[in-house]
Parts: sequence; structure tokens; C-alpha cells
Amino acid sequence: MRRFPLIAALALATALSSPALADEAPAPVAAPQVAPQPAPKLVLAISVDQFSADLFAQYRRHYTGGLKRLQEGAVFPSGYQSHAATETCPGHSTLLTGTHPARNGIIANNWFDPGIARADKRIYCSEDLSDPASTSRDPVVSASLLKVPTLGEWMKRANPASRNVAVSAKDRAVVMMGGHQIDAGYWWKGSSFVTFKGRELSPAVQAQNAAVAKVLKSGAPALNPRPWCGAQDRAISVGQSTVGTGRFKLEPGAKGDALRISPRMDQATAELAIRLVDEMKLGQGAAPDLLSVSLSATDYIGHAVGNEGVEMCIQMAEVDAAIGKLLAHLDARGIDYAVVLSADHGGLDAPERSNQQALPAAVRVDDALRPDRLAKAITARTGISAKQGPLLYADGASGDFYVNRGLSAQEKDRVIDALVSIARAHPQVAAVYTNGELARMPMPTANAQDWSILDRVRASFDAERSGDVLILLDRAVTPIPEPMPGAYIATHGSVYDYDRRVPMLFWRKGLTPFEQGAPVETVDIAPTLAALVGVKTPDGTWDGRCLDLDGGERDTCAVK
Ligand SMILES: [Zn+2]
Repeated sequence: MRRFPLIAALALATALSSPALADEAPAPVAAPQVAPQPAPKLVLAISVDQFSADLFAQYRRHYTGGLKRLQEGAVFPSGYQSHAATETCPGHSTLLTGTHPARNGIIANNWFDPGIARADKRIYCSEDLSDPASTSRDPVVSASLLKVPTLGEWMKRANPASRNVAVSAKDRAVVMMGGHQIDAGYWWKGSSFVTFKGRELSPAVQAQNAAVAKVLKSGAPALNPRPWCGAQDRAISVGQSTVGTGRFKLEPGAKGDALRISPRMDQATAELAIRLVDEMKLGQGAAPDLLSVSLSATDYIGHAVGNEGVEMCIQMAEVDAAIGKLLAHLDARGIDYAVVLSADHGGLDAPERSNQQALPAAVRVDDALRPDRLAKAITARTGISAKQGPLLYADGASGDFYVNRGLSAQEKDRVIDALVSIARAHPQVAAVYTNGELARMPMPTANAQDWSILDRVRASFDAERSGDVLILLDRAVTPIPEPMPGAYIATHGSVYDYDRRVPMLFWRKGLTPFEQGAPVETVDIAPTLAALVGVKTPDGTWDGRCLDLDGGERDTCAVK
């Protein structure tokens, strides 16, 4: 903010209206001129997958590592992943493109194209459809489906010497934060970090893979909860099993998944980022570099055992430590860096525990809303069935539903009408929209906190990629009919704020810290960082706005 003339005037008025002080106080002096900071040499963009604003609020007083440091910067506790499709791929797509999924095309983790040749008709968000080797389940990883550039690409256009690097356990996080022109990108597959087809693993990645292999072979001890985890260490029955008391002990000879669904995944990812900083000398060249680090373990743990057990409490301490280690390394190298930390979406705990914790409305979705059950109901009502393949394609009980292309136009209309009518009549369904209805809607312009469900859906709608029908479930309905403890019992993806609200934390040495509780959007991150590194983009590049990261006189959005 720039308001020193006002402050000076107020100081003068106070001095003049207070005779007692007027005698003693020195004459008011002009506030010192605040010079803009030079651009940082490295932008570190951290995503903590499934780190909801609620988790941040619950744990923020306990952090002692990186998440403590970031609370000493510009703190926006209410950042919005504004759109309805609160999944990893759409969420990561907003962070560094500054655009909503409706514009960048990443409407879900998976969507369907009933006209495509492959049998399952499924498309994965970060695959290369032009490569015949790519399938939806084993994709050839690529950013080809992302319709806009990322911040790293804008930085490279402005300064070809800028490097754009991304690491994560998830390929889709690497691709959506890095974009089309990634100098180095690594993600986890099976039991090691891998990279894009046709590229080699650098010595730093090979060293990290060797370190991980050693841990998998030898095993590793249980991780003990901090004393403040106390009451969360309690077993909850989910299906045939229990969750809530896990310690992440790694048995010798464990498979990669045992490490992946644990805080050790984030440690390995942060260690890889540290090795890449040294190998590529990130932040130590003439042009600013961008390092994206998406930490996936919070999400894997949230899905496997929910987010209110002792497991998440352990993870919150461990991810704080992993981020702290990364920041300490940049400090030790003397790098001038700026950090943003946010998340791709929030999350909801398992309904079995929510029911004990003042949320009796939490339930699992009714089996009748499964795509195959809905298709049966439609056939029973209309007499229409598909000659080849299922009548409906969908990735579960909520989101986009696509009608088989083998039907006549008239049959397709009747199937859509029947699906809309059956879904609307179901007590767990909050809203149902057709593709045509959404295509006629303008993009919302109000504050994202106040958007209607229709507005939220519109922000992750793409007329060509979205379904013929979109089904949105009620608040606190978990779209997992049969829980699988240890793998998949809780999730996100709803239109509600427990999935939409995420923290947005910015830190850079020398900035005046502040906390701003007013809602902001994750699409504000890219324009904010672009201003910080002095990268200019054409008008209309961003769906978001620049946030001034200095709580004092300096204005980090001022055009340099
Ligand atoms: Zn995610």
C-alpha cells in the first residue's frame, strides 16, 4: 500500500491538535522513500496437495519449520480454488497459469470423449493423445491438454535464460505447474522418480532414487506423533478395518506405495528439489528461475485414512519439517528467493469419524448414483440401451456424465432428459445441469466466496470437454460408496468450501508481514508472482489480480 501522504497528514494533524505533545514531539518528518526490491533470483512455488484452509487453521499454531516461516510473510488464510471440480489436475492448473479451468481446459483429472477410438473413452488430464503409446491408465505424460502458458513459460519468454523446474510425486502436478516448456520435471512412478519420455534422469535424480531404494530395502522406524496430537490418536471403524492410529512404520523390503502414502514421500520430493537446486544452480544465474514443488503425501494420507486421525497430525509436522529443510537449504546457498505456498484443493474427512464429530449429515454416496446403476434406471424408463459400450461414461457418482455416441440424436436427448430427471429426484443430489445450460452461462464476476453452485460449475466448464450432464452431490456426501481403509476412504472434488478453500502464503525476505482475511483466489498467484519478478504479460492474460505482498509502504504490484 502507498499511503504515506495520508499518514504524514494524520501525524501532522495529531501533533497540531495535541498541545501537550506539540511542545515535546519533533516536527513530523516525511516517511522514508521505499525503493522497490529487485526481482528475486528464484521463485519457489509449493503446493501441498489437499491442504485445506481448515487443516491450516487447525495446525498453524503448532508449526515450527517452513510453515512457521511462511506465516511471517503475507498470509491469506482464505484462498479460493473457486471452481466446482476441486481435483488435483484442475487445482494445480490454476496455481501458475492464473486462469480458471474453464479457460485452461483442465476440467477434471479424467474426462471422457465418447467419440475417441480407445475403448474406455477416458482421457487423463496430463497425457499426450497424439502418442499411440498413451492410455488413460498408463499415460505418456505431457502438457498438451493445457490450453494456456504457465508463469514459468512467461518467465522464459521474457528471459530465455530462466529455468522452469517442477517436481512432485504426481505427474499431473508437475505438468500443470510447469506447463509445456519444462527444463526439468520429475515425478514418482512405482518406486522411483521418472521423467518425460525421451529424457534422461540427471545425476541428482539418480542419487535421490538410490537414497529412496536404500530406505525401501532397509525399512524405516515408525514416526511418532507430537504431544499436541493427543486426542486424535483414536481408532475409528471404517468398513472391515480401522484407521486413526497409524505410525507409518516402513517394513524392510516394502513396496513403493508404502513410502508413497506416508510423510516420507514429501521428504523424498523435498530432497530431490534440494539436489536439483545444487545441480542446476537454480537461483544463482543472471535470470530468475522457477522451482515448483508439489508435495503429495497430505493427499495420499487424506484419501487412505482421512484427515482427522493421528496420521494427518504426524503428516502436518513432517511436511512442515520438509518445507523447512528446503528453505534452510536456499538460505545456506545465499539465494534471493520468494515463496508461495498453496494447495490444489481441500478435503473432507471420512464420514464414519465426522459422524462422531458433530457432523451427523456426513454419509457415503448411495449406490443408486453409480453410473452403471443410473444407466440401468434410464434403460428401464426409456427402453434405450447402447449397442456397444456402456450407455453412460462417468468417473464416479458426481461430476461429468457422457452419453454413448452410438445413439441417434433423438435417443441421446431422451437419455439426457431421463438422467436429469432421475438424478434431480435423488435426495443426495444438490444440483444437475446440462451442457447446453452451462454453455449459455456467463463467467461469474462476483467475489468467489459468494458464487452460486452454478457459478462454481461454470468456472470449470469447457463446452467441448465437459459432460452432457453434470451432477453435483449434497454437502458432506462422500462419493466413495465402498471404503477401502489404507487406500481410499475419504476424498474431495465437491463444490463446497471444505474442498474450495485453501491457504495462500507468500514470503520473501524484507517484506512487511501481514494477514489478510478477505477472500482471494488461487488464480491471483500467477499475476502476483509475475509482478514480483518483473514479467509483463498482455492485458487479459490472467483471470486473477496481483496481490500486493508488502503490508507496508512498498507495493509489489507496481509496474517496474
Ligand atoms: Zn490433489
